[in-house]
Amino acid sequence: MISKIISRILPHMPEKLVWQVSKTYIAGESVEDAVAASRALNREQTMVTIDILGEFIENMDQAKVNRDEYIHLIREIENQDIHGNYSVKPTMFGLLLDEEICYEYIREIVATAASFNNFIRIDMEDSPCVDMSIKLFRRIKQEFPDNIGLVLQAYLRRTLSDMESMLDLKTDTIDLNFRLCKGIYVEPPEIAYQDYHEINTHYLEDLEFMMKNGVYAAIATHDKPVIQGALDLIKKYDLPRERYEFQMLYGVTPKQRRKLVRQGHRVRVYVPYGKHWFGYSTRRLKENPNMVSHVVKAFFQKG
Ligand SMILES: Cc1cc2nc3c(=O)[nH]c(=O)nc-3n(C[C@H](O)[C@H](O)[C@H](O)COP(=O)(O)OP(=O)(O)OC[C@H]3O[C@@H](n4cnc5c(N)ncnc54)[C@H](O)[C@@H]3O)c2cc1C
Repeated sequence: MISKIISRILPHMPEKLVWQVSKTYIAGESVEDAVAASRALNREQTMVTIDILGEFIENMDQAKVNRDEYIHLIREIENQDIHGNYSVKPTMFGLLLDEEICYEYIREIVATAASFNNFIRIDMEDSPCVDMSIKLFRRIKQEFPDNIGLVLQAYLRRTLSDMESMLDLKTDTIDLNFRLCKGIYVEPPEIAYQDYHEINTHYLEDLEFMMKNGVYAAIATHDKPVIQGALDLIKKYDLPRERYEFQMLYGVTPKQRRKLVRQGHRVRVYVPYGKHWFGYSTRRLKENPNMVSHVVKAFFQKG
């Protein structure tokens, strides 16, 4: 209830105040900010995946601007010797407005990353986007098999069958690379598990499926029991270090992240940046008020 109230009030608070909270989770407004945050993480033997903030656009002109911004970002970063790749949200390129142009724009971004031998991860957004995002991934993977990955959400009841249906994309020479997360959007019980323990059980089932089938596993979670479950599976399947990585969000549970690095695991941090941080932060909180408790907790812990 309190989380809901705070998430409604936040959009009306002064930007400066909201920034005090958001800066823990957002690298800044410019490419230079993203570079600085990425360098600091690289110094801690942590890889990055960089994301430009902004979703759900209103017209295709904005989609074009977003495409140009990503291409600019990639060209800048690839000159900077940063150990990292990129994440994109399809709705930023018009997934819900013009699927074909969205495909063309993301294809161009992947082609740019591929020209530097790098990699683009398609983030998964809310449930109306899932089928279209999988279709987009399939299409681009045909052309750039080594340069694209997808995110799947363990809270969706469909996820295991989605994984099964995509195994045809994997061959002896072509890898399949999924980031598995719990899922951040509010979805109805008909399509998504709601209970914490049930989501965790399915998370580990999905992860085991990936390991059994030789799918590269990007294990995106901060949840201790899930991390422990993943470590147990890594041991069970004797998974080589190069076949998985842990992923965490910028500013979230840094101690846990460093512990995994010390234990010898590969870790990547999701680094969001961009001019639209205010709208992004407040919209995210409105979408899922439970995030407020995390944010508030982190704020006071920091203080
Ligand atoms: C690298 C990465 C990429 C992601 N990409 C996507 C995506 O494409 N699509 C999607 O739907 N979701 C994505 N997510 C979000 C994900 O789905 C979860 O909502 C989020 O990670 C919280 O789940 P959890 O596994 O950490 O477990 P939870 O049970 O939610 O959290 C476990 C504990 O982690 C800590 N924690 C978690 N989140 C926060 C936070 N924001 N601030 C402070 N503490 C926190 C708290 O201590 C909490 O008790 C991504 C997450 C990560 C790490």
